[in-house]
Amino acid sequence: MKIIDGKKIAQEVKSEISKKVQEWMKEGKSVPHLAAVIVGDDGAAKTYIDSIKRSCEAVGFNSSIYQLSANTTEKELLETINFLNTDDDIDGYIIQLPLPKHINTEHVVAAVDPRKDVDCFHPVNNGKLLLGEAEFLPATPYGTIELMRRSGIQTEGKHCVVLGRSNIVGKPLAMLLAQKAPTGNATVTICHSRTPNLKEVCATADILLVAIGQPEMITADYVKPGATVIDIGIHRIPDSTTEKGYRICGDVKYDEVAPKCEAITPVPGGVGPMTMTCLMLNTIHAHEMRK
Ligand code: NDP
Repeated sequence: MKIIDGKKIAQEVKSEISKKVQEWMKEGKSVPHLAAVIVGDDGAAKTYIDSIKRSCEAVGFNSSIYQLSANTTEKELLETINFLNTDDDIDGYIIQLPLPKHINTEHVVAAVDPRKDVDCFHPVNNGKLLLGEAEFLPATPYGTIELMRRSGIQTEGKHCVVLGRSNIVGKPLAMLLAQKAPTGNATVTICHSRTPNLKEVCATADILLVAIGQPEMITADYVKPGATVIDIGIHRIPDSTTEKGYRICGDVKYDEVAPKCEAITPVPGGVGPMTMTCLMLNTIHAHEMRK
């Protein structure tokens, strides 16, 4: 059984990005600039934004954080977006979701310049993804595909079962796996909360990709012997036996599933580290498109 080391692969990709940025600097060229907008003071969102800032520093990008108060109006947020769209120095930006309830998320996402939409939330970029003409890919599906590619996991001709159909993970991941491309060419089944016989369908997968947001729901009886299992879930669950009082786990019950697999991603240290890295790859691409 092979454990897919996402932490190591993410580090390799970051080194490649950092090398590219250093070369640009040596040539006197500008470096990528990623901005992040956060509305309100949600703790988890702030942690994410801090990690974006650290990741940018680590690879040599410039970063800017736009911290707006929780009672920012939609009009004010749209003004900030207009500024980010027109500021020539900023290559790409993300808007931390969810937004406060008084702001219409669809209006906000639609206002982002698709060429700066490094989160790939804009309808134009989602349409391009479907057509196989994507400029950007949503970071988590991108990270999943890149992790499999760099780990030598072939998808061509395989039956991939994607568990979850969210707009940011399950659906785009399934589209990428079905794409006519070396990292696609799979036969794809999408499962969700209304799928009958879920266990039986999962047990037919050569590659089972799980993004359901249910801690350790996928037990050994969901998995065909010799399958590859990619666990995209991340949860912090209470555990009084640990010093911190919690532990991190995925959607897959790792200890019982791993012995049955040909390859598996651990949590933490699997898909998670690839997500931020792929946001950096999208920013590199945004920078290259604009130069
Ligand atoms: P969502 O809650 O948006 O979507 C979950 C999907 O799983 C839905 O399609 C839902 O079905 C389906 N589902 C939920 N429960 C069941 C069940 N019991 N049986 C079958 N299907 C079920 O989650 P996300 O897509 O945003 O995230 C999925 C997981 O990935 C989470 O654990 C999240 O923390 C993690 N994640 C990890 C990231 C990373 O960087 N590694 C980044 C983003 C997310 P239905 O549509 O019918 O409701």
